[in-house]
Amino acid sequence: MSAHDQMRAMLDQLMGTGRNGENNKFHVKFNDPRVCKSFLLSCCPHEILSSTRMDLGECPKIHDLALRADFEKAQQSKDYFYDLDAMEHLQAFISDCDRRTESAKQRLAETQEELSAEVAVKANNVHELQEQIGQKLAKAEQLGAEGFVEESMKLMEEVDELRKKKLEAEQEYRNSMPASSYQQQKLRVCEVCSAYLGIHDNDRRLADHFGGKLHLGFIKIREKLTELEKTAEKRKEERKRAFKDRERDDDYYGGRRYREHYVGGRELDRRSRRHRSKSRERRDRDKDRNRDKDRDR
Ligand SMILES: [Zn+2]
Ligand SMILES: [Zn+2]
Repeated sequence: MSAHDQMRAMLDQLMGTGRNGENNKFHVKFNDPRVCKSFLLSCCPHEILSSTRMDLGECPKIHDLALRADFEKAQQSKDYFYDLDAMEHLQAFISDCDRRTESAKQRLAETQEELSAEVAVKANNVHELQEQIGQKLAKAEQLGAEGFVEESMKLMEEVDELRKKKLEAEQEYRNSMPASSYQQQKLRVCEVCSAYLGIHDNDRRLADHFGGKLHLGFIKIREKLTELEKTAEKRKEERKRAFKDRERDDDYYGGRRYREHYVGGRELDRRSRRHRSKSRERRDRDKDRNRDKDRDR
């Protein structure tokens, strides 16, 4: 982002879109159905995972910082219940991801040489210690970078302890099979972000994984979803009551009674196609947007 763009983003965040609520390049209000409600709540996976290996490409809905500022202000005087919409979006997204994680595991089970139950336990031990090391190392680095030197050092001591345990666990694992099989990289799928982790990965790679944007992004999305689900029942009741009171209130969803439907795995499927058709998609979308703009004028 150039300095000018940064300044603009800051101003948008502070000021919103201005008095008529449409002073943005899309010429919409924040409650227009075309605006991404998850983005308004800072949890759209398209934004959080952008420029990671799982980049989903541009969100099919509108993202605009000024609209987010408008929403935050409006929400203070009137409840829009967008948390419920965002929850549905994230639920669909996460269940898609979990489905993919399951099939990745399935594929691994089919292609990797099968371990006896006893050896599998030993391999799991190594994996688990590795995971703890990676997570602690990433955390220690983060704390160190933020100036919490003492806390960071304390974590590094714990990492050292875990390393010793891991060496032992590796030794046990190695002793339980012929050298040639031991050399093979055994993979496992990260439950959080579905990336592959190898049993011979070194600490550096593990720290990069657990402290990386992709893994942390997935943690953020999953935590947000848990948070939204906690209040969902109560919020749905409240929405039902509010809906009754606002029967003829056409400000609610930009003048339309509007129910949002998330289109299953399409977001993720696009990921696999995106190299082929990224530019074409973008061209089409811009065309759509321009058409919408013209129509709205
Ligand atoms: Zn979005
Ligand atoms: Zn991960």
